[in-house]
This record gives sequence, C-alpha cells and structure tokens, in this order.
Amino acid sequence: MHEKCGVVGISLDGREAARPLYYSLYALQHRGQESAGIVTHDGFQQYEHVEMGLVGDAFDSEDLAALNGPQGIGHIRYPTEGGVNECCAQPFSVSFKSGSLGLAHNGNLVNADEVRDTLAALGHAFTSAGDTEVIAHDLARNLLEADLVRAVKSTMDRIHGSYSLTIMHDETVLGVRDPQGNRPLVLGELDDGYVLASESAAVDTLDGELIRDVKPGELIVLSPDGAGYDSYQLIDAPQTAHCFFEHVYFARPDSILNDELVYDVRRELGRQLWEESGIETDVVMPVPDSGRAFASGYAEAATEAGAGTEFAEGLMKNRYVGRTFIMPTQDERERAVRLKLNPIKSTIRGRTVTIIDDSVVRGTTSTQLVSLLRDAGAEEIHMRVGSPPIVAPCYLGIDMASRDELIAADMTIEEIEAEIEADSLAYLSIDAITEALNRSRADLCLGCVTGEYPYDVEGEATDRDVTRPTVGRETSHGD
Ligand code: AMP
Repeated sequence: MHEKCGVVGISLDGREAARPLYYSLYALQHRGQESAGIVTHDGFQQYEHVEMGLVGDAFDSEDLAALNGPQGIGHIRYPTEGGVNECCAQPFSVSFKSGSLGLAHNGNLVNADEVRDTLAALGHAFTSAGDTEVIAHDLARNLLEADLVRAVKSTMDRIHGSYSLTIMHDETVLGVRDPQGNRPLVLGELDDGYVLASESAAVDTLDGELIRDVKPGELIVLSPDGAGYDSYQLIDAPQTAHCFFEHVYFARPDSILNDELVYDVRRELGRQLWEESGIETDVVMPVPDSGRAFASGYAEAATEAGAGTEFAEGLMKNRYVGRTFIMPTQDERERAVRLKLNPIKSTIRGRTVTIIDDSVVRGTTSTQLVSLLRDAGAEEIHMRVGSPPIVAPCYLGIDMASRDELIAADMTIEEIEAEIEADSLAYLSIDAITEALNRSRADLCLGCVTGEYPYDVEGEATDRDVTRPTVGRETSHGD
C-alpha cells in the first residue's frame, strides 16, 4: 500500500465548510489524482462524498451543497500502480458506539498488519486493505474508554510509521503528525476559523495565514465554533525524519514546509548542483515543471561564476497529460514522455545543452529526453539532477517504484550515463541536501537514497534507534 496523499481539516464559525475544503483539495491536487473526498459534520450528523477522479470531477455544486456543517475534513489520494483502487479512497468514515469518526491519512504505517491482526482477533471487521481503516478502528475502540486526547495518544503509542492525519470525531476536527514528522502538516488561521492542511499553499488559497507546522508528535484540536485550537504534545521523539523528497519533488514550490519555502530550497539545491558538478554549455534548460527552480538556481550560480551560459526553455510541456509515472507498462511510459514534452528546436539545434531535473527514478524520462534532444540537433547533452541517486524504495508514503525498477539501484552513475546516452550525468550529494534544508542527516528521512530508514521497516536497514511499539492490547475492560 503506497499512499502519497493530501489532507485537510477545517473548523469555521457557522459558515459551511464544504467549499473551503473543496478549494483546499484543489490546492493540494498535485499530491493525489486518484480520488477525492470530503466528510463534514453539522453538529448532528456526518455527511460524506468520496469519488474517484480529480477534485473538479469528483464534486459538483449539488454534492457540495449536500455536505452540511461548518466542520469537515478532506482527502486526495495518489494513484497506486495499476490505476484505480476504490477500496482505499478517503476520508474513511465509521460510526460507532460513542459517535462518528472520519479519517484522512497521508503516509504509510509499517506495522498496520500487526495492529489489524490484533483488532481482528478482538472482533473488528475490516472492509479495506488500507492502513487508515486500522487507525480508525483502533481510535474508535480507544474512544470507548478514554477521552479524545487520551484515545489519540493510545493509538499513537500503538501505530508505527509515517502519518499526517486529519480526523473528525463528531463535530471536532483534529490534526496529528507522527512523532518523527515524516509527512508535512500545517496549521493556518482564517478570518472565521482554523485550517489544517498538508501544505501551506492550501491555506494561501483560502486567504488564510500560516501559523506554523504541526509539530512531530503533536495533536491539534480545533474548537468546533472555529474560535481557536488546543495543542497537545503527545509524544516526544529524539529525532525528526522529515522526508527530503517533499522538498525536492513532491510539495508545491510555493509551500512552506518545516519553515522553509520549497522554491528557495530548490533554487539553493540548483546552486549547489553548479558548485558540485557545473559544466559550461551554451544553454541550461529545465525539465518542466519539476526541474525549473533547480535550473534557475543552477544558471544563476553559473552566471555568477562567469560561465557564458544562457538560461532558456528548451522543452515545452503539454499540461493536459497526467503524470507519466502512473502508466502501467514501460512501453506506455516511454510514449507518455513523448506526449508530454516537445523540444523547442531553436534553443537546441547545434548547441551544447545542460538539462536539469529534480530526480531520476526509473530513468525513463531521462533516456527519452536525451534521445529527443539529440533528434532536435543538440551537439552535447549534459544531465544534472537535483537529488542523489534513488537506490531504494519508499515505504513511507511516496509511490515511487520497486527496487528492481529503480535505475540507480544496481547501476553506477557511469553506467546510468551510458544507459541514457548522455554526454555527462551528475547527481547532487546528500550533504548538499542537508545543507540546503538546514538539518542534519539524523533529522531527515533519506531512505530512498541511502537504503536506511528512520522507521523499523521489515527486511530493511534502519539508520537510528527505532523500536516498533508492541501491539498487544490489555483486556482489563472485559473484552
Ligand atoms: P523516471 O522517468 O522514472 O526516471 O521519473 C523521473 C521523473 O518523474 C522526474 O522528472 C520526476 O520529476 C518525476 N518523479 C519523481 N518521483 C516521482 C513520483 N514519486 N511520482 C511521480 N513522478 C515522480
């Protein structure tokens, strides 16, 4: 189960929450295109609309009008390989003895099966294979015997992995971030309420003010009248494990994550890329859109260093083509690159060219691009990549690829350079990442570039002292 998603939660003073939730999901669309959903509460009951597809297709005016109440949560889900997967569209909602519960989850638990088995043995029936349902059942059970804050704490003590959650328990909206803060979650203020969202761009869309990141291990409870919020630091972990790939690729450049504007970080990474492996060519061009900030930083540093290089657009993107990544077969992925990108021949013909992208995953894009640029008449093609080689899968919420599909998993950089037929290829170092993010290695999740994870992933190495919680459940209350 790979869940790379966007979540939002809103509590307002009387105004209906459905539209602001819908706009926030639009702002987070890049984090998921498979399904979209909203759950609201009007103080009496919960309303829900979850559908496959993009936000704009999943809701019409009638759907939004039927979502009553000034509180709600929303979710958009990233496609899993092979396409649609209706079982796991979210928010996940349940009604149980002490009320209604809706959950929206970004991340991936690494001990979901154990928790599920324990709960199943206690009589819980599961309807999906997703780990969000596991969290929902555990929380529902805890709420039978504890208040909201204690119940969330018990669930956090039991689950292990990456999670940013927005939760609605009756009319109360909550936000929770896992103790190592792997996935982002921010808190913002609106004129008449508060908002929790995966990225600050969603807060901007609502004309709100970003207050701050939700802290790792923190629970935020929005008051149902939209007047304020309470914070509970439920777990203090010695280190954080922020996903560096959010900053490199996933998050919007105009979002502020962990106190850093993503665009600035990407430009700085581009500058570092020039410092580490700059090469003077006639033109520097981004792979749109993901390489743009990197290329502008790189070109700026090159110019400062006196290189006579032009910064130009040499590839045009067809913005109506979805992410090539979701194409199920290699053949389709190759075709999709051609559908998506077309060279501007006058920028390229007869010139030496540097192309800059944020990352290389399978290598499909780079291989296709090099041949595209060669056909367009480039004299030399040098590829620079704004992240280190991706050598291992992500188990913590990014749908990347399995190890045998990753081009850098078992090839050296020289071998990849030969494979994609570039005149030169260079990646950014891990040190450049830690420097640009102002964090030590020990506070980042670098699993996909080191093969060592900050969580206890079965069958993989870890780079820190992590122990899974024991999942056993005391039965003193008679069940
Ligand atoms: P590939 O062709 O597999 O090497 O993919 C590399 C391209 O996909 C780069 O241009 C990235 O911007 C983009 N990319 C990187 N990671 C992901 C991801 N998890 N999902 C979708 N696209 C990605």
